Amino acid sequence: MFFSTVSAYAGNNTHHFVVKRGDSLSQYFSKLGLSNRLLVNLLFANKNNKKLNRLTIGHKLTIRLHNNRQFKSLTYQLNRKISLNIVLNGHYFSTIFNRQSKQMPSGLSTTVVNINHSFGIDAQKSGVGFSTINLIVKVFSWQLNFNTDLKKGDRFIIINDFGEKPAAIIYQSIVKNKSIEAFAYKNKHGHVDYFNRFGHSLSASFLRAPLKYKRVSSKFQLRRYHPILKTWRPHRAIDYAASYGTPVYSTANGVITTKGRKGALGKAIIIQHGFDYTTVYAHLSKYAKNLYKGKKVKKGQIIGYVGSTGRSTGAHLHYELHYKGKRRNPLTYKLPIQKSISYANLQDFKAKVSNILTSL
Ligand SMILES: [Zn+2]
Repeated sequence: MFFSTVSAYAGNNTHHFVVKRGDSLSQYFSKLGLSNRLLVNLLFANKNNKKLNRLTIGHKLTIRLHNNRQFKSLTYQLNRKISLNIVLNGHYFSTIFNRQSKQMPSGLSTTVVNINHSFGIDAQKSGVGFSTINLIVKVFSWQLNFNTDLKKGDRFIIINDFGEKPAAIIYQSIVKNKSIEAFAYKNKHGHVDYFNRFGHSLSASFLRAPLKYKRVSSKFQLRRYHPILKTWRPHRAIDYAASYGTPVYSTANGVITTKGRKGALGKAIIIQHGFDYTTVYAHLSKYAKNLYKGKKVKKGQIIGYVGSTGRSTGAHLHYELHYKGKRRNPLTYKLPIQKSISYANLQDFKAKVSNILTSL
């Protein structure tokens, strides 16, 4: 027997080997139904990959496959401290060396992404797959603007337990001397969400309405008679009747993407919230001070004042909510709520968090 599956962490797609006398990578590949051609491509992709031509007895080697049994990645323990990682992204293999800290519990490994160009490019260079890159952008999208916040020298530490998704992701800003942490927790339905170390969700919640209003003067509807244009048109927004000059709030934490006149909308502000949400505030009389494109705003922060600029018959706020580019009804749409780990699972979650934090 030259082959054994050793780890309790082995999922269906993760195969652990401990090298025995006479073992070779080609034996492991054929055991998993992987082609010899793939093996050759892998060995020639990087000069360091040739180290796999001679495996050391007793060392560990892990091969991860996709659900369709295609090759995903390989990790080979070169010595106590360093492992060789090879990840297949599309048609390209990337090779990285991971330094394992001494106390790192078995079953955990870290990948560090140092920011030089952009998160996407630097993460790919470190062998992080596209799905993980997208996941990280999404998880941190409420806290971090990946286009403007990242500075050279910042880093992301991705901690894996060889599950489908990272067990934790930590962003460290050297310049600002701050960090943002996200820890995975799988609920009883098998759905993985990310939380801070206290067990609170990283995504923020929304205010139901962007102002103190008198009444809703026009609802979200597919046909409405337009008093100025004198035609029937859809109104996929909410109009709130309010006195001229009433303060308007951002309904959630976000970043200003537009501040200015926008045709029929008059003076308008558009805010991006996290990855998927955008809100629009229109017909404003004026903007709040010190607002500009790229500026971060908090939930409940005053961004402007009710007016009647643009195509409007009287003082009101025209408010739109977009989810993944589509307009939704702000009065009925199920907005994200600030989730937390349930009390029953909190101890378990905190034990996992401290296991990860002490190993870094
Ligand atoms: Zn309107």
